[in-house]
Amino acid sequence: MIDTNRRSLAIAAGSAITMAAAGLPVMAATPGRKLGYAIVGLGGYGLGVIIPQFKNCQHSKLVALVSGDPAKARRVAAEYGVPERSIYNYQNFDSIKDNPDIDIVYVCLPVSMHAEYTIRAAAAGKHVMCEKPMAVSSAECEAMIAACKKAGKKLMIGYRCHFEPYNLEAIRRARAGEIGKLRYFRSEHGFTMNNPNAWRLKKALSGGGSLMDIGIYALNAARYMTGEEPIAVYAKETTDRNDPRFREVEDMIEFQLEFPSGVIGSCMSMYSANQNHILLMGDKGRIDMEPGTRYDGNKLWVGQDRSTPITPQPGPGATQWAGQLDHLSLCVINNREPIVAGEEGLRDIRIIEAIYRSAREQKRIALG
Ligand code: NAD
Repeated sequence: MIDTNRRSLAIAAGSAITMAAAGLPVMAATPGRKLGYAIVGLGGYGLGVIIPQFKNCQHSKLVALVSGDPAKARRVAAEYGVPERSIYNYQNFDSIKDNPDIDIVYVCLPVSMHAEYTIRAAAAGKHVMCEKPMAVSSAECEAMIAACKKAGKKLMIGYRCHFEPYNLEAIRRARAGEIGKLRYFRSEHGFTMNNPNAWRLKKALSGGGSLMDIGIYALNAARYMTGEEPIAVYAKETTDRNDPRFREVEDMIEFQLEFPSGVIGSCMSMYSANQNHILLMGDKGRIDMEPGTRYDGNKLWVGQDRSTPITPQPGPGATQWAGQLDHLSLCVINNREPIVAGEEGLRDIRIIEAIYRSAREQKRIALG
């Protein structure tokens, strides 16, 4: 049983994002039952970050691998105890339908491949965890949601920060009124992209630049920290198109989000500086996180004084990834909707499309 009362989160009724970020449902677990994950894409995230996390999970285990590199897949399978018969490639991927060990497919591929592998996984009768950003367009997101619905399968997006203790603590304190009435949210997210050949810099594979990859953390946090959905965006892009890294995608993009309560979200993303910061300003104080959404080492302060960082209450899992992986397993076991289902990924992509449009047309774009 996950005890969400332990986190005593005060949830403002209404907004889906508020529920998503703060309201992990209490779900029963069958003792000893672990659902099997197939990891698709043995790259930096799938292999380097996700696979080592199964040891921290209570309800999830690694059972299969999908890779275009057979030698690498065999090596990883041997290291993690995955049987050879559960190694697949991109061509024979659909035969996962005949493998009853696989309950969930985790798509850790370049963004342009998310839709195809989500849709194929659902058609093979598997639930899906898909990495962020959900897809290169809202039309693809809609197709992914429809495919999972048609197959009667769950779809969750890998928004790990919804399971990260510092973010949950910041939400809890903001909702509890510790900084008074929220006036503005600010977040900068970026890193220095050094490899000019990275798929992240190729529009056909990534769908866009820093906003799609790292700025989405600022956008998603603006929504889960405020508990509101933006009603309009205004954006400005600054990219040196002579820089060989940025021939196809943007480097810096600033975007302002208008929320119904009057709160302003002021965000910036970039591929040319290392920054990871979240600030919530209320009329009575501030919540500051720097870094705010990293894998580890996040820090949180309430008020001006940065000498006494806050230690958050424990999150739902031993790590943010264990919380994330087990959440989908428990949703499958208990037939519940994930707190960050496909619709949540779609909302971000719709806003991202509006941000790009605003930057292009240099005007405020109202959101439906
Ligand atoms: P990566 O480049 O390290 O790995 C990508 C994997 O896809 C590799 O195994 C590669 O061989 C495979 N691949 C298959 N076809 C490919 C093609 N045509 N071009 C390039 N690679 C191809 O990337 P990554 O950092 O592991 O990112 C994978 C996904 O995970 C992305 O959606 C990314 O946004 C997401 N991600 C999420 C987080 C997070 O914190 N949630 C962090 C990093 C990455």
